Amino acid sequence: MTNSNIDIDKAGWSFDNTYSKLPDDFLVKQAPIPVKSPELIIINKNLSKDLDLDFTNISEENLSQLFSGNLLPTGSNSIAQAYAGHQFGHFTMLGDGRAVLMGEHLSKTKERFDIQFKGSGRTPYSRSGDGRAALGPMLREYIISEAMHFLKIPTTRSLAVVKTGENVIRNQISKGAILTRVALGHIRVGTFQYIAAKQNINDLKTLTNYTIEKYYPNIKSSKNKALELLNVLIEKQTQLVIDWMRVGFIHGVMNTDNMSISGETIDYGPCAFMDLYDPKTVFSSIDQLGRYAYDNQPKITKWNLIRFAECLIPLISKNEDEAIKLARDALDKFEENYETKWLNMMRDKLGLYGEDKDDKDLIFELLNWMQKNKADYTNTFIFLMQKVIKSSEVYNNKEFDLWKIKWIKRLTLFGSTHHKSMVLMNSSNPMIIPRNHKIEEALTLANQGDLTLFNKLIKILSNPYKANKSDLEFMSSPPHNDRQYQTFCGT
Ligand code: AMP
Ligand code: MG
Repeated sequence: MTNSNIDIDKAGWSFDNTYSKLPDDFLVKQAPIPVKSPELIIINKNLSKDLDLDFTNISEENLSQLFSGNLLPTGSNSIAQAYAGHQFGHFTMLGDGRAVLMGEHLSKTKERFDIQFKGSGRTPYSRSGDGRAALGPMLREYIISEAMHFLKIPTTRSLAVVKTGENVIRNQISKGAILTRVALGHIRVGTFQYIAAKQNINDLKTLTNYTIEKYYPNIKSSKNKALELLNVLIEKQTQLVIDWMRVGFIHGVMNTDNMSISGETIDYGPCAFMDLYDPKTVFSSIDQLGRYAYDNQPKITKWNLIRFAECLIPLISKNEDEAIKLARDALDKFEENYETKWLNMMRDKLGLYGEDKDDKDLIFELLNWMQKNKADYTNTFIFLMQKVIKSSEVYNNKEFDLWKIKWIKRLTLFGSTHHKSMVLMNSSNPMIIPRNHKIEEALTLANQGDLTLFNKLIKILSNPYKANKSDLEFMSSPPHNDRQYQTFCGT
């Protein structure tokens, strides 16, 4: 439904919808399915500004209509995108089953943003799903994606959440909701897999050229564009997973359909932040084998990148053997590159300048100590920065003291000062992460209509590298009886 008379057009939309012009195989035209009685829950003023959108002169009633998809602004052209994916290793043809892209909006500086509804009703790709989403998970995506943004990690963002006034049936009956997600793009590794599976080389070329033109114009004139695109994605995803490891983020469902070509973290389903350091940490109830466990994330990143490379083979070279060799050479560098970057990231977390041959041992000694002593990953670095944490008994430990002596000696090895090291640590170690028990508390209250804690959390999470004494309750690990935290998919 489009209604140009309504004031939703006053926001300052500047649509330039390019994806919808791609061949039929890539998408279907799809309007959001209207909902009964939408009610705006939250709108992201901060993000609106970044997008050069101004919603202040639009009535709440019309904002509810807008962010439910009941009314679409002039110039939007909504579509559902086709994609495939390896889900827990198994290949499936998928597509936006509960999302539609409202359109591509250009900011004043001509930055391009996908504006997408999630939970907007059935599409031809819905399979057996209802096309809808529940309020809790949409607010969860809102808060965690915003937290990631402020942690300075590439991510999709969240512009608004509305309640639909309809129920959705999951394990129990829940309130329905729609999230408006903003992304640099929604092309996934799975999009390439979908097109590659159709074995239409022209479509594959179209997708590759489109992707490069839109996101990576700097490689447009490369001799081997497909190979360069592979290299770019290897680099982007390596950096992304390093950032996840830095803050203890566990994505939880790193299927190839959830790996974005834009290099943004996408699809906040069963994700969660690790508290007590354990590299095998898994929160997702369906990840029984730990495929997407904390320390398996780099391995899975590479696995997904190999799937991406497979799609590009016909474009890398007409000679298949040569194409495979070129792709393999690019992928073979992943481990070494990751290792170097990871080591440097950990050096930053520990305030270490320069490179010493014993750094890796020093780092692993600390990580092993954390694991053995059930120390909180985030708080251990805060403790080393000599900042206040709620409970520090665990650090009253001889082994830890001995490690600290070595660390302090190493700090000055390359002439660094205490001050310089602290500056480095401050910018690498968040004080505040979205703690699972706090998020749950906020969501439970929000579900009852009380957004006080939710809004407070958003505020605190928007400045994660600083903390006040009053923030201490947001900085502690969950209580002992809450250690079996589980997250759920398909919500
Ligand atoms: P996700 O686990 O959110 O990455 O989703 C995997 C696939 O399932 C995507 O194609 C989604 O669009 C689809 N999907 C997830 N939930 C639903 C739903 N409630 N209705 C229809 N499709 C869904
Ligand atoms: Mg997904």
